[in-house]
This record gives sequence, C-alpha cells and structure tokens, in this order.
Amino acid sequence: MNDDLDMSENYDVIIVGAGTAGTYMGWLLGKLGHSVLVMDKDERNEVGNRLDIIHFETDRIEKAGIPPFKVGNPDCLEIRDKSRVVTPDFEKTITTQAFQTIVRLSYFLQRMYKVVESDGVTLKFSCKFLDLIFENDKIIGVKIEENGQKRDIKARLVIDASGTSGVIRTNLPPDYGVETFKLGPQDVMYVLLQYLKWSKPDDPHPISDTSHIYYLLWFGPSHTEDSAILGVGQPGSYENARLTREAFLNRADLPPYEIYKEEKGFTPYRRPPYSLVGHGFLCIGDAGVITYPFSGHGVTATWMLCLIAAEVIDNALKTDVYVSREKLWEINVRYFRDQGAKFAALFTLLSGILNFDEKGWNYFLKKGLIYKTGEDDEIPEPNKEYEEDMSLGELLKFLGSLLGGLIKGKLSFKNIKRFLNANGLSGKIKKHYEKFPENIDEFDGWVIKADKLWQKKKISIKKLPNVEVKYH
Ligand SMILES: Cc1cc2nc3c(=O)[nH]c(=O)nc-3n(C[C@H](O)[C@H](O)[C@H](O)COP(=O)(O)OP(=O)(O)OC[C@H]3O[C@@H](n4cnc5c(N)ncnc54)[C@H](O)[C@@H]3O)c2cc1C
Repeated sequence: MNDDLDMSENYDVIIVGAGTAGTYMGWLLGKLGHSVLVMDKDERNEVGNRLDIIHFETDRIEKAGIPPFKVGNPDCLEIRDKSRVVTPDFEKTITTQAFQTIVRLSYFLQRMYKVVESDGVTLKFSCKFLDLIFENDKIIGVKIEENGQKRDIKARLVIDASGTSGVIRTNLPPDYGVETFKLGPQDVMYVLLQYLKWSKPDDPHPISDTSHIYYLLWFGPSHTEDSAILGVGQPGSYENARLTREAFLNRADLPPYEIYKEEKGFTPYRRPPYSLVGHGFLCIGDAGVITYPFSGHGVTATWMLCLIAAEVIDNALKTDVYVSREKLWEINVRYFRDQGAKFAALFTLLSGILNFDEKGWNYFLKKGLIYKTGEDDEIPEPNKEYEEDMSLGELLKFLGSLLGGLIKGKLSFKNIKRFLNANGLSGKIKKHYEKFPENIDEFDGWVIKADKLWQKKKISIKKLPNVEVKYH
C-alpha cells in the first residue's frame, strides 16, 4: 500500500457518473444502508443537459420503484400508451401499444438527487475521476480532482457509470477480467434530433409518436401540441444519420416547419462486455453497454441490471472480506441469463431484419410480421418482454408468409435466407447466454464459444438513394 495516501475519506461504494445509471444504483445501495458516494465531473445543475426530452418504458419505471411521475410536473410531459409505425411506401400506419413516459431528463435527475440525498447518499459534483488506486493488483479506491485539488478516496467497490466513455472500464488493466474495448463508430448509433414547430399546425402533419422504422427515424412528442422531435439514428457517422434523414425528407410530404432546437449524441449498439464485474469493480449503464437493441434506449434497461446488482453487492458488503470478482459474479450470471440473453438474441435478429430492402419492409410490416397486427381493433404490442415467443402454429404461419412474399416477388430468396440464418443464430446465442456459467472456472470456455457465435453474425447493408449504411 502506498503510505503517503490520505485515506481518511472512504466509502463502501464509489460510483463515477451521476446520470440515470449511477444515480439509481447509488439510491438502491443507499437505501440498504451502505455509505455511497456518487460523483460527477459536471456541475450539479448541468448533468444530463445534453438531452432534453427522453422516453422511459413505463412498466420498467414501476419495476425499478422510481417515485411516480406526474404529468404536469417539470420532469414529466406525458404518459403514452400508443405509438405508430409507417410502412416505407407511406401506405399503411400500424398502431401499436407502447407504454412510454415522456421525461425531461435534467428535471428528472434534479428530482432524483433530492430523493437520493434524503436516503443518505453523498453526491459530489464538479468532481472528476482521474484514476484507480490498486493494492496487490486489486482496486481499492479512486484518485479524483475537486475544485482544482487532487486527492484519493478509498472504497470497497468502484462502479463505472460514466456513460459511453466508460472512463474506468476502458482503462482497466488488460488482465482484470473485463473487456476494455472503446465504442467505435460501428459500435454506436449516431442520433440527430431536431425539435420542430409546425408552421401551420392545423395542416395535417405526422402525429407524435410515429416511427418510420425503415429509415430508423421517428417523430416523437415535444414540448407542445404543435411541435415534434424529428429523430434519426444510424451507425458509422453523424453524416450517415443526416443523409438518411435527407432521403426520408425527399420522400415524405411534410407541411412547413421551423427547427427551434437541435441535439445530437450516440448510443451503444453492440454486445456488452462478457463480464461486467472485476475485483472491486462493476460497470453499468452506457459504460456497461446496456441498451435495448431495437430502440437504443438505455435508461430503464440498466435499472433492471441495478436491481440484481444491489442485492449481490449488499450481500458482499455485509461480510468483512474484499469485494472480489467472485463475490460479484452472481451479477453476471443473473443478468446475462435473463435480460442479457434476450438482448443478445434481439441484437442478432436485427442483422437479419435490417438487411431487408424497402419492398421487403413494406411486406413485413403490412403482413404484421414484425409488429403483429391484431384482430379487429386489437392493438399489437411489440416485444413487450423483449423476446420472440412464437408457438409452432405461429411459426408455421410466419414461414408461410415468408414463402408468400418470395412467390409474390416482395422478398428476395437471399434476404429470406439471411433472415432465417439470423433467426437461427439468435436462438443459439440466447441459449448460450442462458447458460452463462455460475462457476468462474468455466467462463473462459464459455467466452470462446460466445466469440465463435458472434463471429457468425453478418453485416447488414441498407442502400438508400444517397447513402449506403452498414450495420455491424
Ligand atoms: C440522442 C439520444 C437520445 C436518447 N434517447 C433515449 C430515450 O429516449 N430513452 C432512453 O432510455 N435512452 C435514450 N438514450 C440513451 C440514454 O441517453 C443513455 O443510455 C443513458 O443516458 C445512459 O445513462 P448513463 O448514466 O449510463 O450515462 P450518462 O447519462 O452519460 O452519465 C454519465 C455521467 O458520467 C459523468 N462522467 C464521465 N466521465 C467522468 C469522470 N471522469 N469523472 C466524473 N464523472 C464523469 C458524465 O459527466 C455524465 O454525467 C438516448 C441517447 C441519445 C444520444
């Protein structure tokens, strides 16, 4: 141990990042009576300012036990239960059930900070994580900079909740047992948001929450009735997203509007590290690459991981021994066998779906193959449990529809084959994750097989008139 360290300040847990992931994780552990420090490099009223309006899955908010949202409060614009999907030829709009709470991110964080502090969590802002402190090659604390002063703080567990930079995870020693990859251009969806005000609000215009899934573009609710958020996301570059939006606008017949605000950012679009834990270490949120594969949303997805992590960490902290990788391993097991397996399967399936051309998408959507169209006025709800759950009868009907599309020339043989391959691989990957090893000694073997499976995932390509986008 380095003798000149002043270790007078110490906590059970230090969480780096006071975004939605770190704040929630800190709250869960604070409520369990542990001493927790959540720190952020930004000023208190600036955290989360990068995004204004954002959507949370309503059922997951409840599951996470977040103090309820109330429409009309500064952090809640709306609670919705429907959204719409439009076919690429603009001929059909499918209404789906989608339980979403429309949140103003920084107001939400400010509300949570008060809740979290009242449950005994220490929050520090303008406080930057600089480096880890190790003893016998194991994490025992962090070096920070606050008000221009550098100092060391000791903790039994350090949690990386620093967002897409994953500032701790990506700088771990290579042999620490957690992958240190950084998110490159093919590992993220670059998202461009334009806040629009319809110049003639009485003219027909897209109803908010409407998505044009072929373009990965949507009209989301904004601040007022006569405004909307036009969002688009694509991997590779912001330019890919901009050109995709341009291709859409060339086809869509939108009434006049003015843009009153713009935002941009990127959200992870790749598999998470195989292990989220190391000695005295856990990564969550964007730092742990936890996002819903179909939407890129990350907030409530990570809260499900935090619920598991809080239980395991609570048990580990109750003993006097070091919070080792072994003590935290159960987080991996329980997460990857459940939500992690579903997300891995959906992420794989996407590579089969994204490959379809415009004709294929029209056919798929109109036939209800992606969003199951219900009987009469029954509204389908896509992927509620984030997994494909088909009976044999449904599967045969589904395969029959694919064949019908082939015969009618709506789907190409090549694309159907790609889709069925992706579907098969998705099932295999899901099963593999459901067998995530309880025994750490079996992990290396599990990783070798997982690597082999992921290598089979093919790159999909979307060809628009002005841009070709690759999905890795
Ligand atoms: C345009 C866009 C729209 C999105 N829309 C949605 C949506 O509608 N719904 C949804 O669920 N998700 C959405 N997402 C994804 C969502 O924003 C993220 O998944 C989520 O915010 C991740 O939260 P986090 O706490 O992990 O990271 P962040 O919110 O990025 O928080 C990380 C924090 O760590 C701090 N930090 C970083 N480095 C240091 C350091 N060295 N020292 C101290 N602090 C540090 C940062 O200042 C930051 O405050 C969207 C993303 C984008 C880009």
